[in-house]
Amino acid sequence: TVGAVALDASGHLAAATSTGGYNNKPAGRIGDTPIAGAGTYARDGVCAVSGTGKGEFFIRYAVGHEVASRVRYLGEDVDQAATGLIMEELKPYNIGAGLVAVGADGSVAAPYNTAGMFRGWVTSDGDFFVATHDEVFAVSA
Ligand code: ASP
Repeated sequence: TVGAVALDASGHLAAATSTGGYNNKPAGRIGDTPIAGAGTYARDGVCAVSGTGKGEFFIRYAVGHEVASRVRYLGEDVDQAATGLIMEELKPYNIGAGLVAVGADGSVAAPYNTAGMFRGWVTSDGDFFVATHDEVFAVSA
């Protein structure tokens, strides 16, 4: 799965997710990726979310929308909301889940409950970073 979230210079938020699903998935399975509010969700003024993990759980928990709802209605920051879904709600199922999110304020979060999840981000200054499970690397242009 490849997911991306973005906050543009006009303050608009966007999310995109691409996946092949999982091995031996049932024929005709759709999964969470193309379902707005499950594996992919963005709302201007709130946050953008792209998830990875067993999609049936992302659908059941409406993960993308739930992260945004926590931010919007509970006043949680993006990291609190994202971490709450991944580390509290989904971790007990042991399905391997993670997400990337960016808030309307530009804050980013990328929690995961698997052994690793490669992440990359660009700061508002244009600095580019990539991260493995335990190391962050600055990438020069
Ligand atoms: N969420 C995807 C799906 O269930 C799989 C993945 O992200 O690894 O189709």
